[in-house]
Amino acid sequence: MNKKIAVLSGDGIGPEIMMEALKVLRKIEDIFGHKFETVEGLIGGSAREKYGEHFPKETVSIAENSDAILFGSVGGPVDKQMEPKWRNCETNSILAIRKHFNFNVNLRPVKLYSALKSSCVLRSDIVENGIDMLCVRELSQDVYFGKHETSGEVGMRHAFDEMSYDEKVIEAIAHAAFKAAMLRRKKVTSVDKANVLSCSKLWREVVTGVAKTYPDCILEHVLVDNMSMQVIRRPGDFDVVLMPNMFGDIISDEVSVFAGSLGMLPSASLNEKGFGLYEPSSGSAPDIAGKGIANPIGQILSAAMMLKFSFGMNIEHDAILGAVEKTLVDGLRTGDIADGGKSVSTSEMGAKIVENLNRFSLLTGVGARASLGSP
Ligand code: NAD
Repeated sequence: MNKKIAVLSGDGIGPEIMMEALKVLRKIEDIFGHKFETVEGLIGGSAREKYGEHFPKETVSIAENSDAILFGSVGGPVDKQMEPKWRNCETNSILAIRKHFNFNVNLRPVKLYSALKSSCVLRSDIVENGIDMLCVRELSQDVYFGKHETSGEVGMRHAFDEMSYDEKVIEAIAHAAFKAAMLRRKKVTSVDKANVLSCSKLWREVVTGVAKTYPDCILEHVLVDNMSMQVIRRPGDFDVVLMPNMFGDIISDEVSVFAGSLGMLPSASLNEKGFGLYEPSSGSAPDIAGKGIANPIGQILSAAMMLKFSFGMNIEHDAILGAVEKTLVDGLRTGDIADGGKSVSTSEMGAKIVENLNRFSLLTGVGARASLGSP
């Protein structure tokens, strides 16, 4: 298969971890006989330096002419946010690109690899059976997109935020969640506040309706306040967690710590046409940028998600996950997951994952079978 990928590495650790993800994609090309044409574009502070803006038209064009976008991260050090290079960098680049392509579905898998159980913040008896959930968050509506107003004199001020949802938007995200669940453990937990909010009442009614078209899936509804406790008490019970924008923002950050480090987490943003942007959940980590110590796994798993969700390459996706798991079982750790023990560099971690990908394909014959076209 031939595919064109827009590679937008961004700032900070972005280019360092992207380099490792590209090595993994090259190995996938070798094993499976695909051709990935990668076209690099600037975004964030690096784009502001060259073009005077964070998301220049040159980058827009590269992204528009691709089959998928592989994104790194943008932004500068927290204490330099007012410098022109960094001011509003995230808003002008990542939020702008999400808006430009109308990404309405955000997927964030949270998996605790068994080799990292000791790095998890939760008690060992709670994580004994592992954690493997997929957060599905609606991105285009909710309170973030309504009117925001503050009026009145100091001492008597009144603030107002408008929350709204369209039935069609809820329907679309619910279908995305159930389709994802069909490829997993066939369970959807829908999170709302239907005991109070009109938006949530509509959400619950529409999600219940959509569930009828997926009779093989189990649907449960959980109120968001209860959910914030349940994910900590029994994280292994959740498969696909479907959430409106604001609740998804909060709960997906809460569960992200289960994976052991922000550096482990991939994500995908998709629009209604199925076009997608894939990026690690973390930021540009300026505190460790340029040191060669960042964890590349979140970026590598983002590339794996791209193969699965944009190109339908499920075997290739699973092969990368297998190689990552084997690398962790082999004991390799970057500093963020080393628990104070011996750590390896970004490129050593990437190289071992590529090596394990090769071994994985030799052992299973998976690449050879796929390129011959047999099941
Ligand atoms: P951050 O996610 O960049 O870093 C938080 C902490 O996690 C840091 O200590 C960092 O070293 C660590 N960390 C993150 N990724 C890591 C990795 N792969 N390996 C090892 N450790 C890792 O968040 P922050 O420090 O609050 O923000 C830094 C910059 O990133 C800001 O400018 C912010 O605006 C931007 N940001 C960008 C995005 C995005 O591009 N989507 C998202 C969040 C933050």
